[in-house]
Amino acid sequence: MLRLLAVVTLSLCAWSAQAQSVAFTFDDGPQLEATPRLSPQQRNAAMLAALAKHQVKAALFVTAGNGATKPEGYALARAWGDAGHAIGNHTMTHPDLNSEKVTLAQYQQEVRDCDAIIKTLPGYQKWLRFTFLREGNTPEKRDGMRSFLAQQGYRNAHVSMDTSDWRLDAKLVEVLTRNPKADLAPIKKAYLDHLRQRALAYRALSHKLQGRDIAQVILLHHNLVNALWLDDAIAQFKEMGWTIVSPEQALRDPIYSLSPERAAAGQSLLLSMSKSLGLWKFEGYKFDGWERLMDDGDFEIDALKAQGI
Ligand SMILES: [Zn+2]
Repeated sequence: MLRLLAVVTLSLCAWSAQAQSVAFTFDDGPQLEATPRLSPQQRNAAMLAALAKHQVKAALFVTAGNGATKPEGYALARAWGDAGHAIGNHTMTHPDLNSEKVTLAQYQQEVRDCDAIIKTLPGYQKWLRFTFLREGNTPEKRDGMRSFLAQQGYRNAHVSMDTSDWRLDAKLVEVLTRNPKADLAPIKKAYLDHLRQRALAYRALSHKLQGRDIAQVILLHHNLVNALWLDDAIAQFKEMGWTIVSPEQALRDPIYSLSPERAAAGQSLLLSMSKSLGLWKFEGYKFDGWERLMDDGDFEIDALKAQGI
């Protein structure tokens, strides 16, 4: 037992000796839907250019029904694999496993069908990113998926740092649809401020739970907001002194082999762990910005609304 503890302590020390790190992951791609400003091809190229500029290796979690089932969408996913990024599974049609209308068998078929498409791509990994980060509304679904993934040789590609980039993306599209020449500086600032707040708060949460800096995995989406400002987002992490690692490196952090026992698992792994342990109930556990980990970017959206945006 003592020897085991020593090994665990040593491996944790090896992790904590490194600078705070983060791996970039993008869900729901490739997205062929039209947006203002950029075509789907331009959005895809802009995200890949930002990653290449900073020499970042990321992961794209494919929702095949958003584009990869068509040749033009498949080509966009292929460009990620060709550039050395990992390709993971985010189902065919993005169903919600916590919905009573979605059965375990249906969800597993969604994963198998997406797998049949992505396994032909360079960078293919047997990584599942649960849609909505929800692992099922019943223990049967949760455990059913856990044993299904193990049988398929798949892993749960957890998120530690959830963001509401999708909410700011929706605001961006709304503003540009109303006025293509709108001043986007306030939305860009809100996006960057939001990512910084989540980064600091999830870092604080990892200290509460693990007493150390874990290798964080950030969730972003294949969308316009990241096409326009991912370069700035990566630069901001670097200015904060964070190092960028690949998802493969980050997922080697021992924290990602944990499976919280909460009845309906999901969300950011760190939030899920907090809830499993019942830590939300303790006043002393709370820290600066913790309450904003559970909003959907409301703070930034409300601040934009106050500016008339
Ligand atoms: Zn998604």
